[in-house]
Amino acid sequence: MINNFTVEATELTRLYGGREAVSNVSFSLSKGQVLGFLGPNGAGKSTTMKMLTGNLAPSNGSVKICGIDMMENPKEAKALIGYLPEMRPLYKELTVDEYLTIAARLHRVSAGNIKKAVEITKERCGLAHMSKRLIENLSNGYQQRVGIAQAIIHNPMVVILDEPTVGLDPIQIRDIRALIREVGAERSVIISTHILPEVEVVCDHVQIIDKGKLVFNGAIDVLKKQRIGNKLLISMSNPPSADSLLKIAGVTEVEVLATGQMRVRFAEDVTPAEAIVQAAVHNNWGLHQISPDQTSLEEVFMQLTYQDAALTAA
Ligand code: ADP
Repeated sequence: MINNFTVEATELTRLYGGREAVSNVSFSLSKGQVLGFLGPNGAGKSTTMKMLTGNLAPSNGSVKICGIDMMENPKEAKALIGYLPEMRPLYKELTVDEYLTIAARLHRVSAGNIKKAVEITKERCGLAHMSKRLIENLSNGYQQRVGIAQAIIHNPMVVILDEPTVGLDPIQIRDIRALIREVGAERSVIISTHILPEVEVVCDHVQIIDKGKLVFNGAIDVLKKQRIGNKLLISMSNPPSADSLLKIAGVTEVEVLATGQMRVRFAEDVTPAEAIVQAAVHNNWGLHQISPDQTSLEEVFMQLTYQDAALTAA
């Protein structure tokens, strides 16, 4: 079948000693998309990434990179991928130039193009002034840039980065995120992260994995909408009983908070704000605040993953 997918994962499953570390995961990715792969520790992110990159055989399911089956044609499929694993594959006794030259060779950049590929990649990754430095003498942030440089030196269609900003300082994080967005504009990028704001800044698609299963798969906008939710926060100096509010059309739930405020949940297609204001005026409830009650992205994540923890935190 001809389509524009750069990555197609179909029913990916991986067993470890009879236990499913990744269970029936399916998704696809197109050119120009940056996918954020989120999940608590042990959820199955690294295992999924290793299967996507052909470093681990799935127990079941398949991976296609630009239509090429990873199991049937691993060499061709892998040539289209750049991968930065959690443990950076750096030879620290080499200089940046030496290492990137070897990386280009390993990625089968043709001999005549290696020098140019190294120069272009250094430029993109902000490494031009580090060419002759030994990798072991570089800061953590610069070593990470070298790690990303080896993943993109052959200009692959799919770039997969496991926790690319872990351990970096805020300026380095900003630079690496900008680089990821730049690469993602022309290619497909998958990053794993546990940093929720990073997903908002860098990604247009999100997958949340928990206990090996996908619990959310969609556009970042959809996740953000879940965050807005159908809730209002109301403060009144002379509040009515919860029952009086429940009589207002659309109101489905009323919660009295320790602060004295009331949290009102409402049905999907009805916004009862106006009716609440009118009732408040009519009945002298002393309304002095009514505003949307946003759920933080963290709460959405908790709701999707640790259901019990979310309930106690609410
Ligand atoms: P994440 O990257 O989300 O932290 P992993 O993919 O590393 O999660 O791990 C998913 C689950 O698989 C965990 O329960 C982990 O203990 C288990 N696991 C990972 N690698 C192995 C292995 N080589 N042998 C046995 N169990 C493993």
